Amino acid sequence: MTQTDYVRQQHHEFVAASDVAMADGRLQKILGELGDSLWLRNRQAWEALTDSDQVRERARAIKDATLAELDVHLATLEASVHRLGGSVHWAPTGDDACRIVLDIVRRHAARKVVKSKSMTTEEIHLNHALAEADVETIETDLGEYIIQLAGHRPSHIVGPALHLSADDVAGILTESGGTPVPSDRHQMAAVARERLRSHFAQADVGITGANFAVAETGTIVLVSNEGNARLTTTLPKVHIAIMGIEKVIPRLADLPFFLKVLARAATGQKLSIYTSLITGPRREGELDGPDEFHLVILDNGRSRILSGPLRESLFCIRCGACLNACPVYRSVGGHAYGGVYSGPIGAVLTPLYDGLAANQHLPHASSLCGACQAACPVKIAIPQMLIELRGQLHDTPGGSNRWESFAYRWWYRVVKSPFWYGWATWLATRTVGRWFRKRGWVRKMPGPVANWTQSRDFPAPAPERFRDWWRKEGHRDD
Ligand code: SF4
Repeated sequence: MTQTDYVRQQHHEFVAASDVAMADGRLQKILGELGDSLWLRNRQAWEALTDSDQVRERARAIKDATLAELDVHLATLEASVHRLGGSVHWAPTGDDACRIVLDIVRRHAARKVVKSKSMTTEEIHLNHALAEADVETIETDLGEYIIQLAGHRPSHIVGPALHLSADDVAGILTESGGTPVPSDRHQMAAVARERLRSHFAQADVGITGANFAVAETGTIVLVSNEGNARLTTTLPKVHIAIMGIEKVIPRLADLPFFLKVLARAATGQKLSIYTSLITGPRREGELDGPDEFHLVILDNGRSRILSGPLRESLFCIRCGACLNACPVYRSVGGHAYGGVYSGPIGAVLTPLYDGLAANQHLPHASSLCGACQAACPVKIAIPQMLIELRGQLHDTPGGSNRWESFAYRWWYRVVKSPFWYGWATWLATRTVGRWFRKRGWVRKMPGPVANWTQSRDFPAPAPERFRDWWRKEGHRDD
């Protein structure tokens, strides 16, 4: 199966997948608890940081300014990595990035690779490409390890196994190891740690993502709550880091602003347990570290986004806070979105990376309530971007519903004309408004709008128009 076929197979229809997720009581319980934990911690973290607004604005401004001169900063990063003895590879597409990684892996005749959690490698389906080349890949982040054993996709940007309960995880560990594992979190973590140790020792290559890459120093920054990223980058002889072009930041002095907001937004922590700054391969006299360091810089459509109206999506630091805040994500979970990225930012990124035509429901998978933007550490205007994508759907083959377009065209004409607006409101009050005067709500609507009242009532128009009441009270129209 080619990479493209594999990606296509991953996608499915959002509405149908959402129905399945909403009927799954076990998943609903897990998602319900998400709001009480991660989202609450995010809000408390912003409240506890006295200058949170300034820090978030500063982080946003750094992103904005960096993207304005992205070519310059990427060239500086390349020069810095070379100066340190590392190699830089440019990957225009996900397939190119997989090819580059496979070339390095083959050159070292590597049979086993350990990986730390990286959404960029998920985006390019690197594990699939490595498996096709008969290279064993072991995910070493606990959540990623569990879903790899189960054959699942990540359901959350920072908590890939968030859709699983402790009992589910114990079942997966038991089945894969052949000995019973109790559903106690500490014991499960100990079992996974024990199993992963030998893989670290045997692996020839370690692969990571990069939360940030500092241009002036050539430093790759990895943020995690487990020690696996450190083992992945120090034990194998070769370290490959894969990053999107937007992950570069100009100076080391910019980093504290992002570290301050990332952990708070993701988990409510002041700082993640591990923040690793990796500056090139092992130097003479150093005890640990890889002999070779490779940095793969991925475009995969990002430079096209950079010059378009959805540029702000490149500010994203993959903290997952918008998922935890989103009422849609908290109802349907991550797998319903079909792509690698889920939640509000996934509803923007998946159509951008994998095509709007194949993901037409995603821009509509939002109530546009704004909770995502409020939770976002860099204040990305996700609702506005979803509206932009909804607009672009009109020019996408099969992207707009004929009846919906017809209705909106008429609605637009009516509200623009005082005469027709007056006539329409008069008609609505004299008919529906008077029929449902007593109850005030319409319980069942007919025809193409019947779906609206399937799970909620529709507010009936008032039996009298405001302008009629206004005049009756003796006021003038002007
Ligand atoms: S859009 Fe904002 S809140 Fe959502 S993952 Fe990206 S940085 Fe975090």
